[in-house]
Amino acid sequence: MYTYQSSKSLFDRAQQSIPGGVNSPVRAFKSVGGTPVFFEKAKGAYLYDVQGQQYIDYIASWGPMILGHGYERVVKAIQQQVAKATSFGAPTALEIEMAELIRSMAPNIDLVRMVNSGTEACMSALRVARGYTGKNKFIKFEGCYHGHADAFLVKAGSGVATFNIQTVPGVTAGAANDTLTCAYNDLAAVQQLVKENKGTIAAIIVEPVAGNMGCILPKPGFLEGLRQLCNEEGMVLIFDEVMNGFRLALGGAQERLGIDADLVTYGKVIGAGMPVGAFGGKRHIMEVVAPLGSVYQAGTLSGNPVAMTAGLTLLNELKNNPQLLTELDNKTQYLKEGLEKELNAWGQPYVINHFGSMISVHFSDHPVTNFEEAAAANNERFKHFFHALLKRGIYLPPSAFESWFLNNALTKEDLDKTIQAVKDSLEEL
Ligand code: PMP
Repeated sequence: MYTYQSSKSLFDRAQQSIPGGVNSPVRAFKSVGGTPVFFEKAKGAYLYDVQGQQYIDYIASWGPMILGHGYERVVKAIQQQVAKATSFGAPTALEIEMAELIRSMAPNIDLVRMVNSGTEACMSALRVARGYTGKNKFIKFEGCYHGHADAFLVKAGSGVATFNIQTVPGVTAGAANDTLTCAYNDLAAVQQLVKENKGTIAAIIVEPVAGNMGCILPKPGFLEGLRQLCNEEGMVLIFDEVMNGFRLALGGAQERLGIDADLVTYGKVIGAGMPVGAFGGKRHIMEVVAPLGSVYQAGTLSGNPVAMTAGLTLLNELKNNPQLLTELDNKTQYLKEGLEKELNAWGQPYVINHFGSMISVHFSDHPVTNFEEAAAANNERFKHFFHALLKRGIYLPPSAFESWFLNNALTKEDLDKTIQAVKDSLEEL
């Protein structure tokens, strides 16, 4: 029987000195209720909380721990680097290696700049697109999340959707007025919006496979249509691959879906759990970035040697063993089939959205293809589902508006245990 006394006292204490007791809102369990679990260590597919209780992990630190926690080669590489230096604020060969490795794996990346988070990557990519085109407006999709820079906090997914925040106080009208939004997968609406704002739009930014309203797949033709529209109108197509990159394929969503982006943002996997992001893309666009051009962008810890070492080790591991991503996809497929079997037996409406190693369950009686449809699902039921699984040692994202992330340390036994826990949880619901 799982108990949470130690987490509860830590949460009480945390709330005295940290807003809401957490350093990122979704961690607070506010939408699912109950006490957030405080963790102490992790190994492979397992998390251990402060009471030593073990959980099978389905968030993988929201993506980075793609090969599992404490991956030995990564740990060793970090230890060796820490002994040499933790930061210079001056160039290192490691940064070149990282840029070359990303270029060798992902399409359309001629130049790439390292940053410290996905937020930085997206806000910088947008600035580059604006600087390059000389235009201010951009299009984003409802329920997509591109970090917490002001311009993106309009109809955003992830925590903003979880907490149902309609307008974020502190984001000025000036910052938000240039943000145009459309429903994900609605190409006709994008075409209309472009028509109405002709000649004023710098970019379209999109999560090719969305993960911040649950997992939502692009309909056939949607991304192709965005590509074509950008070609026709001279807009920059930005793929936010913070979740998709190096997970859906070695070359990310661009490779897996066969669509070229102009700029791409990365995070998560490229840092192997260290704070890292990157933005890059076609040379003629990226050349506007300072010090080559005058679109300023900088970072004291950007390209940090410890973070580069961790990321390089993980990316090389994936590149040298491409079957790892196939294994991970197969495990996700196995989990999906198990979930379907149990959910069918249960008999209530549900939808599973699944692509590669991203997957989410929606308690919905209609397909979930955009934010509105994700929000219309029975998300009250998700809360009970979440807690029923948590107390059986299965750690899902604590929100219906997040994709689950599998890691390749998961064994068939772990997946079977999860499927059994789902069966037991559904009986309890
Ligand atoms: N873009 C996407 C698609 C994301 O999922 C996230 C974070 N989950 C971000 C950007 C922001 O990244 P970070 O939290 O590292 O700032």
